[in-house]
Amino acid sequence: MKPGYYNRYSEHLVKKFGQKVYKLPVNLPGTCPNRDGRLGMGGCIFCDNQGSGFDCLPNTVSIREQLEANKLFFCKRFNARKFIVYFQAYTNTYLQLDRFKANISEAVGVDDLVGLSVSTRPDCVNDRYLDFLSEIRERYGLDINIELGLQTVNYHTLHRINRGHTLAEFIDAVLRIKKHDFATCAHLILNLPWDVMDDVRENAKLLSALGIEYVKLHSLYVVRGTVLGDMYEKGEVGIISLDDYVLRVAEFLKCLDPDMVIQRLVGKGPRADLLFSNWGLSWWLVKQRIEDYLVKNGIYQGLQFDYLDGKAVRFLPDAD
Ligand code: SF4
Repeated sequence: MKPGYYNRYSEHLVKKFGQKVYKLPVNLPGTCPNRDGRLGMGGCIFCDNQGSGFDCLPNTVSIREQLEANKLFFCKRFNARKFIVYFQAYTNTYLQLDRFKANISEAVGVDDLVGLSVSTRPDCVNDRYLDFLSEIRERYGLDINIELGLQTVNYHTLHRINRGHTLAEFIDAVLRIKKHDFATCAHLILNLPWDVMDDVRENAKLLSALGIEYVKLHSLYVVRGTVLGDMYEKGEVGIISLDDYVLRVAEFLKCLDPDMVIQRLVGKGPRADLLFSNWGLSWWLVKQRIEDYLVKNGIYQGLQFDYLDGKAVRFLPDAD
């Protein structure tokens, strides 16, 4: 493997579908069990009110209209021909099954789709919803994956950021998704204030051990008016330096299964009320810093992927 290599999503899509494929985001009015009182109030400490749908069209626009408008944009700008519907904001399986079915059915009627991606929380993955998605795959021949926010494998940190679930729910969700033969994409934040380098390594190792197919990385952003924003303004939490963050991403990639696909190496923060995002740099400059570091230091994805399949006994000779 060449220094600097990591398994890029755009290249993976071209290999898989024979051409470039674009994601069409869908933004639905919704909430999250961690905000409406079912599991907790106020949500994750970094969550702003938009449930991570800040790059989408307003959620008052119908699903079909959002998809057609986004499709037109990608067709005009990039001459796009194939698309994945992406239910992005909030928790898209946290609604009654009938409503979920109606949403999915409205979306998959759009022409030129090759896939469907549904973003949700680990504690909102249920067999009945996955059974319905299996029917959709059968009927429309779509490639389907489920995106799960995990953020970190450190369950103490999960508690501190008020996620409302622990690591066990994530593992249960991944196993259910696998049972239905869908792919999983896990979201991680590698610079949560309470996590250290060992957590970064364990993030990579757990995802690899579970055979997860995709990962999205996001550096922590801080929005005014959130619990994290208040902590940040009072000086109760700090953010590691960009140099330290680059080290963490490099370490993560080293430990990661080389077959796992990196859907995103660096995320964008929302545009308004930001107290901190990407060290004041554009996301692509952060990405460049990471890629330069990898090349300069001979690092590539999977460099230290040597810990599965009974590492301690793997090299022992067989008894005669
Ligand atoms: S799970 Fe997502 S939408 Fe729900 S509180 Fe956390 S960040 Fe916000």
